[in-house]
Amino acid sequence: MSRSTSLRSFAGGEFPGRPQPSRLAYRPAILDGTLADWPGVRPGLARRLKGFGLETVADLLEHYPRRYDDFRDRKPVSDLKVGEEATVRVLIDGLAEQPTRRRNFHLVKATVHDQSGTVQAVWFNQRYLLKVLRAGMVVSLRGTYKRSGGAPSFVVRTHEIVSEDAEGLHTEGIVPVYPASEGISTRALRGLLHDMRMVARSLPDVLSGGLRADEDLPTKSDAVLAMHAPRSPGEARAARARLVLEELLLMQVGLLLHKRLESETGLACVLEPPGDLSRRFLAALPFSLTGFQQQALSEIDADLCRRTPMRRLLQGDVGSGKTVVALHALMRTVECGHQGVLMAPTETLAEQHLETVAQLCGDLAGVELLTSRLTAAARRSALARVASGETTIVVGTHALLQKDVAFRDLSLVVVDEQHRFGVAQRDELVRRAAVGGRTPHTLYMTATPIPRTLALTFYGDLDVTVIEGLPEGRAPVTTRLIDESRREAGYDFVRKQLAKGRQAYVVCPLIEESETLDAASALAEAERLRAGPFAGQHVEVLTGQTRTAEREAIMAEFKSGAVAVLVATSVVEVGIDVPNATVMIVEGADRFGLAQLHQLRGRVGRGRHRSFCLFFAGVTAGRSDERLQALLDTNDGFVLADRDLEIRGEGQLFGARQSGLPDLKLARLTRDRDAVLRARGLARRILDDDPHLEAAWNAPLASAVREAFGDGFGWLLKA
Ligand code: ADP
Ligand code: MG
Repeated sequence: MSRSTSLRSFAGGEFPGRPQPSRLAYRPAILDGTLADWPGVRPGLARRLKGFGLETVADLLEHYPRRYDDFRDRKPVSDLKVGEEATVRVLIDGLAEQPTRRRNFHLVKATVHDQSGTVQAVWFNQRYLLKVLRAGMVVSLRGTYKRSGGAPSFVVRTHEIVSEDAEGLHTEGIVPVYPASEGISTRALRGLLHDMRMVARSLPDVLSGGLRADEDLPTKSDAVLAMHAPRSPGEARAARARLVLEELLLMQVGLLLHKRLESETGLACVLEPPGDLSRRFLAALPFSLTGFQQQALSEIDADLCRRTPMRRLLQGDVGSGKTVVALHALMRTVECGHQGVLMAPTETLAEQHLETVAQLCGDLAGVELLTSRLTAAARRSALARVASGETTIVVGTHALLQKDVAFRDLSLVVVDEQHRFGVAQRDELVRRAAVGGRTPHTLYMTATPIPRTLALTFYGDLDVTVIEGLPEGRAPVTTRLIDESRREAGYDFVRKQLAKGRQAYVVCPLIEESETLDAASALAEAERLRAGPFAGQHVEVLTGQTRTAEREAIMAEFKSGAVAVLVATSVVEVGIDVPNATVMIVEGADRFGLAQLHQLRGRVGRGRHRSFCLFFAGVTAGRSDERLQALLDTNDGFVLADRDLEIRGEGQLFGARQSGLPDLKLARLTRDRDAVLRARGLARRILDDDPHLEAAWNAPLASAVREAFGDGFGWLLKA
């Protein structure tokens, strides 16, 4: 069974050879009726609602309040205090327009009373009230008791006509405030939802009765009703928590289901326990592994010894030392007689990896570099060695994905900086190597430190290993924001570092979408620096357009210390590792994203020496200011990822990934961390008991997951 059929069949509700999930999910038709058919909704309103994304009754029921106004402070008229806001419930004794001297200013005044006393109620600029309100009506008024000149009066903000035996919708109790738009007032939404409260009773429950009992959760309909008309803030919170949990649970069940179907369909090569080669590799390392690296090593090792193909994300901040962990896994593959691949997003990084591999395991494995820069002849012979199995570790770029690349026995694919690859590219190798009936193990590495809750959501179908912190003995990086007036002082500082024998990066800003223009501006900047601030220093330039041989030479010279200043476009962003480079200037820092700046900064602070990052920024304002401030505040990638999320919002993140994950209406991954973890646990429990959601009591859940993912399965299929 191919991956897609396995999921499609789930999505279609049919597993070949398995009983179909029974269809007990009763859903009353009224929920899917259009709002245009709802009594009291005129065509104009129906059209505006539809334009606002609210088409059916169910849409409206799931249009939740943005916040609540607490109007429970109803008072007898005699208790009103000047300056205080309150609600009063009164009988209108009389109502009249009050003449004013100003032309466009109208006053409506009413004498109203309750059992405790009488007060003057005042409305500004609402003459129409003379036609709506009459003496003898009972109204509830929300407003402020104010004194202006003579006796105080009650200035009304909101009023409504109420009946003796019911609480007002807009002025009493806890009043929901909805996301509204022009033409759809929150008041209108409140009225409609109030009329629909009986229908909300018929909302089917996605969570089984058993689960609700175990977890002490209210029913869906109770939760929805409480969202729209809570009797206390606590009730609103509990309702929200329940609905958030449901949303997250659907997401987690979908992701876990995908993960499990995935592992059911592919069989991996089971590696023997660690042997001589990997032991020699570890023994030869010039440092000892950190606890987190060791932990990662053993988690990956355990995966490699299983029949189920590994699908693991190795996450760790820049400089945390992910490469050795990946190399160890590759050595494990080699010692068991198989081949492994290490794929990187840029040529420079691939070349650096090749060097590391050659250095750390060159005499233990046959290593080959495969990039698009190889000459035709070199490429042909390299491909022959890969196909014959003479080469055991292949390091490369996208060039590895070309059709003519064939392996003898590919068992492990490592994708470095995986976020730089498109989802399809990322898995292309795996899919191709899987043709032989065996699926390679995959290890995805990322230095984009996303919070664990997010990882569970974005990569919910992968296992996640986190390397926390950095290896010991790393010098801290000091970050400074340098404005234009202090530019010279900035250069002066860099010159002092150079005088101490350190090296520097100068990163040029992204100017255009064009590599050629970026490259040209980097070349010009290097000229300027050679002539001015860094006269007498060896300054070199690296851009996306530098030829391979030249780039290799420059990198080698920079590593050896012969080049003092490396001017570069943001190509230095990923992976480069030169510990003696201790200072970095980022030009136009305000044009980079937070994550990118953090990656850039990760190029320094890789050795024993104290390091510095100088953000040169012109005029900064608003969001870029917030970003730069966050970077000044902390070096911790996880904290920054959180800040980034707060600043940019989750919608952005989802958008950027085109993830195809279901929308989250209520849940906020930043705020609802505990709920994500709880949902993950519940999803696991549910699928442990009922791996294919076939039980009758899980039928509503199965169809809700299907609906939630909808087209999103397209992404899941590829992920
Ligand atoms: P990243 O996780 O960003 O890919 P690297 O794997 O490039 O980080 O590691 C950064 C640097 O740290 C490299 O020079 C590497 O040799 C070194 N390194 C890795 N692990 C350790 C360790 N346990 N102790 C000291 N240095 C280490
Ligand atoms: Mg790396």
